Amino acid sequence: MITIKNAKVLCREAMELQKLNIIIQDNEIVELTPRGSKGRVVDGQNCVAAPSLINSHVHIGDSVAKDVGDGEPIEKIVKPPNGIKHRILGETSSKEMMNSMRNSMEEMLQTGTTTFVDFREGGVEGIEILEEASKNIPIRKIVLGRHASFQESDDLTQIKMAAKEILNHCDGIGLSGFGEIKDDVARLIVETCDEVGKLSAIHVAEYLKLQSESLNVHGKTEIQRAVDAGFNLLIHMTEPVDHDLETVGRSNATVVSCPRSNGALSVGIPPIKAMLDNGVNVALGTDNLMFNSPNMFSEMEYALKVTRGIYKTHLDPLEIFKMATVNPAKALGLEAGVIEEGKIADIMLIKGVSGDPILSIINRTRSKGINTLIKDGSVVLGA
Ligand SMILES: [Zn+2]
Repeated sequence: MITIKNAKVLCREAMELQKLNIIIQDNEIVELTPRGSKGRVVDGQNCVAAPSLINSHVHIGDSVAKDVGDGEPIEKIVKPPNGIKHRILGETSSKEMMNSMRNSMEEMLQTGTTTFVDFREGGVEGIEILEEASKNIPIRKIVLGRHASFQESDDLTQIKMAAKEILNHCDGIGLSGFGEIKDDVARLIVETCDEVGKLSAIHVAEYLKLQSESLNVHGKTEIQRAVDAGFNLLIHMTEPVDHDLETVGRSNATVVSCPRSNGALSVGIPPIKAMLDNGVNVALGTDNLMFNSPNMFSEMEYALKVTRGIYKTHLDPLEIFKMATVNPAKALGLEAGVIEEGKIADIMLIKGVSGDPILSIINRTRSKGINTLIKDGSVVLGA
């Protein structure tokens, strides 16, 4: 057992600051109490205890291609199968790939992230490379795989078999986008994920041209098609049009917004405030390692300030902090993201915060501010 003592705790979903001891047994928070302790004591004096962070969208395999292709059109950089990233990945040995993946996972832990959701390419073999790379790194990975047949084949029976095989090895399926995949294939993949209770995700409406092409060819926006197919996670939604926001707000889908990636690629800024106003569950992801460090503090700070800037209005920083904790935990079916009895003990102790702990975490905390990081009830960094 572990007790975190003397810290001010951001409690429950409301993240109300209270001076409480957190008692942890195995991987679970079992008690929040004003006094008393059990087992080993972690001293949280002068620290704020906050839920550790969830990065809801990365392509960790692209860690080998950092900062290449800057200034090129987005299609030329990332569109399969002939984008710059695909050429580099094709030329990289699996050993090199594993080393760069390991570095990225270490960087995530050092910046308070204990869970990440990865879009993994390369079929079962690609999933195995990540499994091997993450050995002995105490981070939780949620792996969404894919198979080449999803975009190459018309044979739905073969696609269903490939999807089942992928799902035997990972947590769900993550698709590149509707440009690469047909609607009947998308529906089949979602259905196959649903059958085994796993996640389905797809990039949608990352830039306006994709939306106009979708409307021209299919009479529906990419977002409408993704909601119709029943995907759990819609990645980007930088350019909703028509009734897209209301449609997603009424659905059970979560939008994973990646504002730094959209900014880096000059495709737009996701309308985060409009998403919230329409009741959308929003999570944040750092997206491709080519353009961004996997640092969720940076993502939260950019999301907060760019949203205030484009809307010229105040946005509560708590809304942004929830996009890295509470909201993705709900979307992923993960009992974490909140400091509350019965939840998984994924906690960071932050030192040197200002009088406004949430704003201080977003604006000022980087790796140097993390005193202790706890994942699944075990100390993985610090004291
Ligand atoms: Zn992506």
